[in-house]
Amino acid sequence: MPGPARLACPTCQRPVLWNDDFPHRPFCSERCRMVDLGAWVSGERAIPGEPVQPDEAGADPATPGGRNGLN
Ligand SMILES: [Zn+2]
Repeated sequence: MPGPARLACPTCQRPVLWNDDFPHRPFCSERCRMVDLGAWVSGERAIPGEPVQPDEAGADPATPGGRNGLN
């Protein structure tokens, strides 16, 4: 049985263990969590694999598993 899942803090890339030692996981600290939220609000981050293109967003019916692909 492996230990708790290990990941990197999205903000500072420090190792974070998925256990009670890191109550702010996946962030290493509340500070990093707030930094990340601030980045989202200001639009500095983009969702990986889903580029935002205002002119074409949701306009391509041929895209597999698109925004409406709820299954
Ligand atoms: Zn961090």
